[in-house]
Amino acid sequence: MTLVEVALNLPVKGLFTYSLPMNIVNVISPGHSVLVPFRNFTIKGVIISINAEGSLSYQGEKNKIREITTVLNSENPVSCQLMELTRWLSEEYGCSWGEALALIYASPKVKKKTMPLPETLDRAIELEAPLLLTPEQSEALQKLENSLEAGKMEPFLLFGITSSGKTEVYMRIIQEVLKKGKQALFLVPEISLCYPFYSLLKKRFGGRVGVWHSQKTPREKSSQIEMIKSGQMDILIGARSALFAPMERLGVIILDEEHDHAYKQDEKPRYHARKVALRLAEIHQSLLLLGSATPSVESFYNAQEKRYTLLTLKERVPTHCLPRFTVVDRKKSQTHGSPFTAQLFHAIRVTLNKRQQSILALNRRGFSTFLLCPNCGYVWKCANCQLTLVHHRVSEIETDGENLQCHFCFEKKPLPKACPDCKSEALYTGGFGTQRIVQDLKKHFPRARVVRLDRDVPKPKAAMAQAYETFRDEAADILVGTQMVTQGFDFPRVTLVGILDADTALYHPDFRAAERTFQWITQAGGRAGRSALGGEVVIQSVMPDHYALLTACQNDYPAFYRQEIDFRRSLNYPPFTRLVLLRVQSKNKKEWVAQESDRLCAQLQTLECKADFEVLGPGPAPKEQLNKELRWHILVKCRTSETTRSVALAMRSFIPKSGVKLVVDVDPYNIL
Ligand SMILES: [Zn+2]
Ligand SMILES: [Zn+2]
Repeated sequence: MTLVEVALNLPVKGLFTYSLPMNIVNVISPGHSVLVPFRNFTIKGVIISINAEGSLSYQGEKNKIREITTVLNSENPVSCQLMELTRWLSEEYGCSWGEALALIYASPKVKKKTMPLPETLDRAIELEAPLLLTPEQSEALQKLENSLEAGKMEPFLLFGITSSGKTEVYMRIIQEVLKKGKQALFLVPEISLCYPFYSLLKKRFGGRVGVWHSQKTPREKSSQIEMIKSGQMDILIGARSALFAPMERLGVIILDEEHDHAYKQDEKPRYHARKVALRLAEIHQSLLLLGSATPSVESFYNAQEKRYTLLTLKERVPTHCLPRFTVVDRKKSQTHGSPFTAQLFHAIRVTLNKRQQSILALNRRGFSTFLLCPNCGYVWKCANCQLTLVHHRVSEIETDGENLQCHFCFEKKPLPKACPDCKSEALYTGGFGTQRIVQDLKKHFPRARVVRLDRDVPKPKAAMAQAYETFRDEAADILVGTQMVTQGFDFPRVTLVGILDADTALYHPDFRAAERTFQWITQAGGRAGRSALGGEVVIQSVMPDHYALLTACQNDYPAFYRQEIDFRRSLNYPPFTRLVLLRVQSKNKKEWVAQESDRLCAQLQTLECKADFEVLGPGPAPKEQLNKELRWHILVKCRTSETTRSVALAMRSFIPKSGVKLVVDVDPYNIL
C-alpha cells in the first residue's frame, strides 16, 4: 500500500495520511491536488510527500487509513517553489499549510465578468515615459542590472517622487530580465490598476504579457498556465494573488506603490504581499523591486538599515514641475458653515477663469456626515455598528429620497423628522461629504461643469472610465471625489488640487495615522502640475502644524520619516516590533467575549517566549461593535520574528467557546 501525506484546506494542525488507489500510484507526485474523504465530507488537499512514515494520520472509522478519492490537477502539480512559499507562509501567518496552498487554486467567490477598463486609461502613464533616461534613472537601472548580472537575490527600494519616471525603470529592467530568458512579475495594489500598466507593457512587449488576478475564472487561468508553461507568456501583471501564479523562472518581482495597504489581505490567510514577495524572491534568487513615492516606514527603515538597497529619483521628468502647496487653517478662516475656506474658494475661481481644471478630494461620501438634535444632543447611530450614520441624498439638488446610511454595514433608513428622545423637529445636519461639495460648487459657480466620483455614483467602474474621458476631453472643469480621484487621474490641464479634509485620518487611534495622512496628501497633491502649466495644492486642515502635513507640503519624505521613526521607536511600534492582533468577537454570545479575551491573555502568559513580547489589552476594539458583532482586542508587540511566529502558532491551539470567534492577524493594518 502506498501512503501519502496530504495538507488539507482546513484550520487544523499537521498533515493527514491517506492511501493511494492502485490505478493512480504511478501518476502522482507531490504538488498534486486531490479530493479526500474527511469525516463525512469530501474536501480538497494537496499531496506533500509520498510513502511518508510516522506522520500524523487521521484515523477514520475502524482505524482504517482511507483512500484518496480523485486527483484534480494531474497536468499541473504545484511547483516546488510554491510548495516552499506556502509552507513558509503558513508558519509566518499562523494558518495551516493546506489553507496557504488554497491561495494557489483560489477561484473567484463571485463569478463575474471582469471589465477591462477602456484603452483611454493608457495615457496617464504614457506621459511619464520619456525616451531618454534622466541621469538618476540611468543610475538606478545600472545598479539593478549589476545585481541581475550577479544572479543573486537582492531587494531594492525605488523611492521616486511622483512624475519622476519610476515606470520607465520598471520597463527597462523587465526588458533585461527577458533577455536572460527569465520571467517578470509586476504587482499593483488593486485589480483596477492592472489595466493601464497592462496596455503599456503590451505596447512594449506584445503578447508576452498576461493579467493574473483573483477574478479570473478557472478556465481563463488554465489557458494562461498553458501559455506560461510553453514560454509564450513571460510577464504577468496582477494584484497580490499573482504571487501564487506558476512562474518557475522568475527574474524580477516588482511591487509598485509598495506602501499601499491593499497589499495586505484582510481575510485568512492574512498575508502581506510585500513580505511574501520577499520570500518568493529568496526562493527564486531573483530581484525584488519595491517602488513608491511615499515608501512605507517599514521599507524605508529596511533601506536605512541596509537590508534593502535604496534607489532614489528626486527630480521630476523635465516637462513636469512641482506644484506649490498651501495649508489653510480652518480654525482661522471664516467659512460661515461652507466646506470651503476663502483661500480655496479663490483658487477655484482663478482656475476656472484661466479655463484650467481642478480636482477636489475628500474622504467622505454622502451629503453631510451626521444628523444631530441640537436640543438634547442625540446623534443618529447605526444599531448594528454604533457608527455615526451619514446623511445621503439621491441627487445634489432634490431633497426627496434623503436617507441615513451606515458606511460599514450599508443599513439605510429614511431621514427622520423628529428626535426620538425629546421629539424636537429642529434637527441639524453637520459635516460635509462629496454631495454637499457639489451642491456648494453649483451654487457659487453655476456655469462650472462639475463631475462627482465616489462609490455612491451608479456603476462606479464605468463612471470612473467616463469621468476620465470627460476630464481628458476638457468637457468638465471640476472633479469632486474620494480617494478614487487620486489614482490614475493625471492630466496636463489640472492645475489645482484642493484637499478639503486633510487631517481626518489623524483622529483615528491608529499608529499609522500620520503615515496614511502623508501618503494621502502626497498622492492627491501629485495630480497637480503634470505639465508646464504648473500647479497649486490647497490643503484645508484644523491641525496645520502637524508634521505629516508640513512635510507632505514640502515634499520632504525623509523629514517625515525622521519624525515618524522617532515616534515609532518611542512607543515600540513597527518596524521596532512586529504586531499580532488578536480579535475576539461574537454576535450571539456577547457575554462571553470579555471572559474569553481574559482566558486568551492568560494563555499568552504561559508561553515560554513571554519575556519577548508586550501585551496591550484585552479591551473593547475602537470600533467595538460592527455588524451586530461585539469585538475585543488584544495587541501583542513582539520583539523578534521568531516570537511573532510562536505567538501566532500558539493561538492556533486556542479553542474559543462555541459562538465566539478568534481572529489572529499577524502584522495587522486594520487595528480599529
Ligand atoms: Zn432630541
Ligand atoms: Zn452599520
